[in-house]
Amino acid sequence: MSITLDGPAVPGSLRRINRLAILRLLRQMGPISIPALAKAKNISRPTVAKLVDELERDGLAMAVGSTQPAASGGKPAVLYQFNAAGVRCGAIFLRVDSAQFAVMDGNGRALALVERTLGPDTRPAPVIDVLIETFREMLATLALTPDQLIGIGVGVPGLASQQRGIVHLAPHMPEWIDVPLGEQLALALDTQVWVGNDSHVQALVERQFGLGRDGKEFITVQSGIGLSAGYFLRDALYRGYADTAGEIGHMTVQEDGPPCSCGNQGCWETLASTTALVESACRQPNGGYALPEWLAARCASMGSLASGSAPTPHEVASIAEAIFAAAQDGQPEAQELVRRHAYHFGVGVANIVNALNPGRIIIWGASTAGGALFLEEVRAVVRRRSMVRPREVCEIMFSQLGQNVGLLGAASLALTALFDGAITDSSSTSRA
Ligand SMILES: [Zn+2]
Repeated sequence: MSITLDGPAVPGSLRRINRLAILRLLRQMGPISIPALAKAKNISRPTVAKLVDELERDGLAMAVGSTQPAASGGKPAVLYQFNAAGVRCGAIFLRVDSAQFAVMDGNGRALALVERTLGPDTRPAPVIDVLIETFREMLATLALTPDQLIGIGVGVPGLASQQRGIVHLAPHMPEWIDVPLGEQLALALDTQVWVGNDSHVQALVERQFGLGRDGKEFITVQSGIGLSAGYFLRDALYRGYADTAGEIGHMTVQEDGPPCSCGNQGCWETLASTTALVESACRQPNGGYALPEWLAARCASMGSLASGSAPTPHEVASIAEAIFAAAQDGQPEAQELVRRHAYHFGVGVANIVNALNPGRIIIWGASTAGGALFLEEVRAVVRRRSMVRPREVCEIMFSQLGQNVGLLGAASLALTALFDGAITDSSSTSRA
């Protein structure tokens, strides 16, 4: 298995270009016959037959029946389609406090799914060890070998160069600066690896499986400890000149606001993240932290807060979850906290609506646990704060893809590479 970290490559030969074209047609138009494929792409029938043969051998195409015999007496033709069930791709979704792992087929159906909480040390080396070890265990459980995968897509909570597989900065994890994550995982796991920013992979997955399927221009917005966006415009993910587009958590919304981990102050994240939500619930006038009574009962295991220290990312996640759950149960303080949290979130969304005029904003991540209370307040703030024309055409919705959306997004990195031609050559997609 060759290791390629260069991302989608320029197809190197006519045969490869044709093979890719046929694969795409099988996916878009299948079931379809060889004569119909030949006509659609203006390639000779023998060439198409050879390419379909090859795709079938690689597990990417399958015969699914035949056409009706023509009235003129023509022979029925075999119909082929893309064989999503034959695809195996790995997915790793790294969060600041945990990581999810899966092996999926070409339809994004998980064959195995594992979640690990990261230890207290979230510097690169110990985290990468967890990723390698857990992924190996999962492959062993499925009795799969690395050469049966088209590769592994990895979503990370930070700036990443997809071309080079490097994590340039993960602002909520210490010492994650220019880490060659793709190369390290590829060497250890012996397969191709694509690394992408978590918001970018989220946008890819919405286009493939979610609310972006209809082709409308959309922007995904991640809620939670870190806020970021994925721009899917003109039917393509906009990554930016250095792959860092979407760091809207660090747009300034309050010039003299609180300091942010990025070095700036008054970033959107300092007001609208779940860290800020938990701060508003637990911060004491003396600067320490304590759980209010109504929340303490729901967070029985949050012992460290009792000593007054700031919550860890893992604790922030748990406390925020408890606040959202209490709000859903009608607890008035929790509802007020969630409304305020949604207000801050909505201010940033209004800025996005004004700046980019998307057809749809798709919100995902921790704050979607705030349910209708959160979403309605965000919509109300956008109505008040954005300009009439862009807001009239913009739907604001929660992602419908559920808990494993990040994993699906990571898998989409590998699947997108498959359809972009980076891994369509049979020499690099050999299957057992
Ligand atoms: Zn910032």
